[in-house]
Amino acid sequence: MTHPFADLRSDTLTKPTPAMRQAMAEAAVGDDVYGEDPTVNALERRVADLLGFEAGLFAATGSLANQLGLRVLVKPGEELVTDHNAHVVRAELGAAAVFSGITTRTWPSTNGRVDADAVAASITPNAGPYLVSTTAIALENTHNFGGGTIQPQDQVRAVQQLGREHGLGLHLDGARLWNAAVASGVPIGDLSAGFDTVSVCLSKGLGAPIGSVLVGDAERIAAARIWRKRYGGGMRQVGILAAAGLHALDHHVDRLADDHARARRLGAALGLDPASIDTNIVMLDVPDAASLVVAAADGGVLCSAIGPRRVRLITHLDIDDDAVDRAIKVLLSAL
Ligand SMILES: *Cc1c(COP(=O)(O)O)cnc(C)c1O
Repeated sequence: MTHPFADLRSDTLTKPTPAMRQAMAEAAVGDDVYGEDPTVNALERRVADLLGFEAGLFAATGSLANQLGLRVLVKPGEELVTDHNAHVVRAELGAAAVFSGITTRTWPSTNGRVDADAVAASITPNAGPYLVSTTAIALENTHNFGGGTIQPQDQVRAVQQLGREHGLGLHLDGARLWNAAVASGVPIGDLSAGFDTVSVCLSKGLGAPIGSVLVGDAERIAAARIWRKRYGGGMRQVGILAAAGLHALDHHVDRLADDHARARRLGAALGLDPASIDTNIVMLDVPDAASLVVAAADGGVLCSAIGPRRVRLITHLDIDDDAVDRAIKVLLSAL
């Protein structure tokens, strides 16, 4: 067993850099439940401005930010529709049902890429007293379990139009929206436009140790702030955490292009079409995912089996060119 030199399981595994720790140590703080933490306020303002919304809310996790967004868009007993592999239905442990009484249905997709016709076929707005009424649609950009897929903007616009026609709420799970913006060259404010609520993560590719921001209009964010406290997510002098997010926005956004180039190089070396790798996630289809994970770990490369025959590799801030070169050798021999 080689000491792990490349941890490709997730981009959540990054450790704060010395400069980020310095920024955290120097952060001005106050009690955020009182609205008095200047660093949290600055982060919320900055992300809201970047994404083109009135207000922002700092949340400990992306799951909490998503769930607060859904909470303010969908009432108990109403329905959210989303992709069959969406994080909000697969990886948040039933939170929408448990916390908000939300029922969900899903549309099928290939690699998580949204098709507005599939969304149209899955909604049942104003269904009357017999069937569940759809009241919101959630999209995910990039799509995690789809393989870091960037959503086609024409389809996003078509889904938004469909939602508006039927008076539905529109939530975007933008945990990796920064990756989508950097890889596509489309400004992040264009990717977030047209939604009612958008969540973004600071703790994935941006490399902060914790934190997400939910944005929306002032009224929805005020409501989400109340729900955050009710869920036990009101935090105090967390400017020390928000400072990591602000530092990441200053220093770790443009460099996501390096993660994307490395993911493409890794995928190509493993026999994938590099054009199929949109951002920082590489999906390998293999006969036995669990045994590949064990063999790779033996050689010092950590990766995740996300299905019986599917392995996920994610590049991030702590994976440099050398780590990719060495990971390619280990993975090729493990394959
Ligand atoms: C990571 C992730 C989240 C949030 O995860 P947390 O672990 O709760 O921070 C939300 N959506 C997607 C698509 C993600 O990949």
